[in-house]
Amino acid sequence: MVNALAPYRRLTIKIGSATIVDGTTGRLRTEWLAALAEDIAALKAEGRSVVVVSSGAIALGRGILGLDAVSLPLEQQQAAASAGQIALSQAWAESLGRHNIVTGQILITPNITEERRYFLNARTTISTLLTLGAVPIINENDSVATAEIRYGDNDRLSARVATMIEADCLILLSDIDGLYTAPPARDPSARHLPLVPQITSEIEAMAGGAASHLSRGGMTTKVEAGKIATQAGTAMIIAKGTELHPLRALAEGGRHTLFAASESRAQARKRWIMGTLELSGQIHVDAGAAKALMLGKSLLPIGVTSVKGEFVRGDAVAVLDPDGREIARGLVGLDREEADLVKGKNSKRVSDLLGLGARAELVHRDNLVVLMGPEARAT
Ligand code: GLU
Repeated sequence: MVNALAPYRRLTIKIGSATIVDGTTGRLRTEWLAALAEDIAALKAEGRSVVVVSSGAIALGRGILGLDAVSLPLEQQQAAASAGQIALSQAWAESLGRHNIVTGQILITPNITEERRYFLNARTTISTLLTLGAVPIINENDSVATAEIRYGDNDRLSARVATMIEADCLILLSDIDGLYTAPPARDPSARHLPLVPQITSEIEAMAGGAASHLSRGGMTTKVEAGKIATQAGTAMIIAKGTELHPLRALAEGGRHTLFAASESRAQARKRWIMGTLELSGQIHVDAGAAKALMLGKSLLPIGVTSVKGEFVRGDAVAVLDPDGREIARGLVGLDREEADLVKGKNSKRVSDLLGLGARAELVHRDNLVVLMGPEARAT
């Protein structure tokens, strides 16, 4: 019997809607939640800290408000989230409260995980709750998030939360026990994969697109979550969560897929850059600059061939090689207009154009994460 959770001290556990809410009645699965709360209490008693990302607000709110159409318009989803979230947090507070565990609710939107100021603040609140022995219960702030600024699925949201708090493992409890070589509902010969050492394009292709009407993410968003997590040094487990005691089952050798974390941890800054969902622009570079980036150098204006998008200093941008492949991501050091002005110019000319003291780098190496080559694994 292998305890899949043994190596980890700080866990983020994502609860899918299909596990916490009964798909037929639209009601909370109270017995299941009580069993899960017992599992969480046991993990905490072993000295682990636990952050929960719980879905289910919309699914519960549907029942509460009597909205039973299969697909709801956005405003009804938001109303459902609003009514359902109260019931959801109450359920968590009660079930963990039975084990004398205090819960704290945090509702987040992408700007919170993507903008450094909010990010640091949310991180501090979560770690303070953990220090105080509480279990933070997190969900997307669905009732106010607009279509453009929402994650829409708690898979990626939980990956951002896990990397934000430097969890060593993210567990996605869903209605499937892991990744298969093809969606098993469509392909009976699909094989279960116990371990994914690295997320390659083959792995991405296996994810397919299955999702139920209650939960938004299918396997695709789970693999996306895996990318965010593992590149930042957080392992990810996908396990079936619908049975009673799903975490105990994992500790007792239950079936799951483990996505291994990258060998070394990226610096907090690089971790954050890597997971940035919103890229404000693209910087195309020549072959020489692409090579220099692989070797861990900063991006200098001289290697830049063209600049696209609207960005200001500090925004996240993608760096593309001459074949148009994204080779790095970074926080840009200049505004769009300045970048346009200095592209292709040598450093002397750059300081002439932008004035003395202007930063010679377009993206400094400390603010750059290279997606291929040796730097991708650097700390
Ligand atoms: N945030 C949504 C809810 O609580 C769930 C999103 C998802 O299914 O991933 O209802």
